[in-house]
Amino acid sequence: MSLENVPEELAAERSPAELHERVHYPGGASKPRRNVVAFKFGGSSLLGADRMLHAAGLVRAATRASSVTVVVSAMKGVTDHLLSIARALADGKLVHARREAELVLLLHLDVLHNLQLSEHDDLRVRRELQLLGRDLLQEILVHGSVATGAELFDRLASFGERFSARLFAAALEESGVPAVPVTSSDFVLTCNTFRDAQPHLEKSKQRGRDVLLPLLEAGIVAVVTGFIGATPDGRITTLGRNSSDFSGAIIAHVVDADELVIWTDVDGIYTANPNESAEARLLHELSYDEAHALAASGAKVLHAKVLPLAAKTEMVVWVRNTFNPQARGTRIGTQRSLQDSRTASKDSVPICSISTQQGGAA
Ligand code: ASP
Ligand code: MG
Repeated sequence: MSLENVPEELAAERSPAELHERVHYPGGASKPRRNVVAFKFGGSSLLGADRMLHAAGLVRAATRASSVTVVVSAMKGVTDHLLSIARALADGKLVHARREAELVLLLHLDVLHNLQLSEHDDLRVRRELQLLGRDLLQEILVHGSVATGAELFDRLASFGERFSARLFAAALEESGVPAVPVTSSDFVLTCNTFRDAQPHLEKSKQRGRDVLLPLLEAGIVAVVTGFIGATPDGRITTLGRNSSDFSGAIIAHVVDADELVIWTDVDGIYTANPNESAEARLLHELSYDEAHALAASGAKVLHAKVLPLAAKTEMVVWVRNTFNPQARGTRIGTQRSLQDSRTASKDSVPICSISTQQGGAA
């Protein structure tokens, strides 16, 4: 579908976030707390300047009713590319690795060019990307003396999200939304199992609040890198392949978000793979247990660690389609909130049709 034709204003009017009642600070007499929403965008939602600007429009629409924090994946294909550089290095192919790293930088500079920022902003973000590119090349030059094996893989893989967070923050600014990139390794604390690191949730929350809450309160959208964390001694780790959904849940937990919206490229969660079965039905509402049971039966739902965390904190999770934001998506919540929303949203939420779109997450 043509991105230009997506009515973002319409999507904003129907934003699930707006269905929520205003909450109040505990003990605060009359100071209303804005609804807090975390948006996670997958790699296909960020692939190129047009898609970034489109996703930025969804954030802009949501900021009218809510405070928003964003979590991003790398642009689609970039993590694979970076890991192939790590493999080339492991095979001693230094020249090849260098050339590929330069291509990764050029790819992101190309997206920056297509964002068509003002000259001043373009120069600023270009410099940020070039500094990142320089760090990436530096990793390649000094590899072996600083990091080896799985640790090197994580250091290299982390660049994808670091590039995309800078570009997406620029796309937001271009769309009139104040935004800053935030590197999650500044506060997501993990063990040192590289390539599959486990986050320490409560310590990460404590540290992350200092970084993210002042931004939320100032109305600035933090664009946080998914996928990456750091050990207590500051070495970069990743939470495993395709873990940025999980990062979305972690960041949502850090800011006590009312809702986490996983923006992907399908209309929501289906009873079966819509590409394989004509019987596949889109599911509008699920309890955490129902979603968990679906995942356990082999359905591609969400990263396995999202639902347990969401259930623990009773955070509502939406799975929505970046490319079809008029569709309501799938809502996952507690049984009780499911009941509430069924009653509350009866008239206000459009019933979405079953999509025939391609399956597969970003
Ligand atoms: N960029 C990472 C990967 O490709 C994380 C993610 O996309 O969820 O595995
Ligand atoms: Mg992904």
